[in-house]
Amino acid sequence: MWIVPETAIADLMTPEAAFDAVEQVFAAMSRGDARNFPVIREAIGHADAIYGFKSGFDRAGLNLGLKSGGYWPGNVAKGLTNHQSTVVLFDPDTGRPRALVGGNLLTALRTAAAAAVSVKHLARTDAKVLGIVGAGHQSAFQMRAVAAERGFERVIGWNRDPAKLARLSRTAADLGLPFEAVDLDRLGAEADVIVTVTSSFAQILTSAQVRPGTHLACMGTDTKGKQEVGVSLVSRAAVFTDEVAQAVTIGECQHAVAAGHLDAGAITELGAVINGTAPGRTSAEQVTLFDGTGVGLQDLAVAAAVVDLAMARGVAIEVPF
Ligand code: NAD
Repeated sequence: MWIVPETAIADLMTPEAAFDAVEQVFAAMSRGDARNFPVIREAIGHADAIYGFKSGFDRAGLNLGLKSGGYWPGNVAKGLTNHQSTVVLFDPDTGRPRALVGGNLLTALRTAAAAAVSVKHLARTDAKVLGIVGAGHQSAFQMRAVAAERGFERVIGWNRDPAKLARLSRTAADLGLPFEAVDLDRLGAEADVIVTVTSSFAQILTSAQVRPGTHLACMGTDTKGKQEVGVSLVSRAAVFTDEVAQAVTIGECQHAVAAGHLDAGAITELGAVINGTAPGRTSAEQVTLFDGTGVGLQDLAVAAAVVDLAMARGVAIEVPF
């Protein structure tokens, strides 16, 4: 069995490799070649932790396995990341464990890659202004990945706590893009592409604030009850997702579906757009919205890619098992 520890991932994995892995697995899901299995997520009654796992099988990429981990709120005080995840890959022919891979950085890279894939396939090609709502851990990864997909000329951002906006301005500076902190009215009025990546449980951005032609990648809502944008914005948009079953239960679509404003059948898998079996954006004025809920197959795809990279560079650790 191969081990690729968390500390090795940063030197191995790139946003480009994550993008390719995620685009391919979304396409495989839509062809029926890859399937996510039901998600387990439980409060364990210890250390206030939420623990769970996401698993699946990609018959095209031959990736079988799971990402296990969750949220340990006391970790920061111990000098550790609150979100913890580890990927285990299995040989689909024998069921034997193939690799154990650190999943923390990979989670951020695969989540950002999903938003970037949506921008590649759904945003207007003339998009110039990138808007980011949220300035937490994920936000910098989101900005880097999405900025690569269009000729953006500037970045604007909003965060509930303005003190944290420094993360966005630093990241934009690294990318050579000017950054400005704005209110939500300006963000919606000026941005061509908007990424929302917060842990909010109530709408932040409303339909009235968003102008025609905008593409939104709503990445923060991955749990029942979370919400980032208004129901009327979701029902106004052409809606795409990684997986419809997750979008209607734990994704941004859950609220519009529960309110009877959106039918699950009206939500398109991004993989179908990638495969050319469903239309993406159909007009320059259309608002498109990608509900990125985060599926286990994304984790397996980036973990398999990093194992290949680690083996090619001779840095994967082999252990008899
Ligand atoms: P973080 O804790 O580092 O940052 C949280 C962000 O949310 C901050 O910007 C904070 O100001 C903002 N926020 C919190 N409550 C808010 C509220 N009520 N109104 C407005 N803003 C609020 O978290 P992170 O690691 O950056 O993750 C952000 C979100 O993305 C989380 O909800 C996380 O669960 C989700 N996530 C989704 C996926 C996916 O695949 N879709 C993957 C990883 C993380």
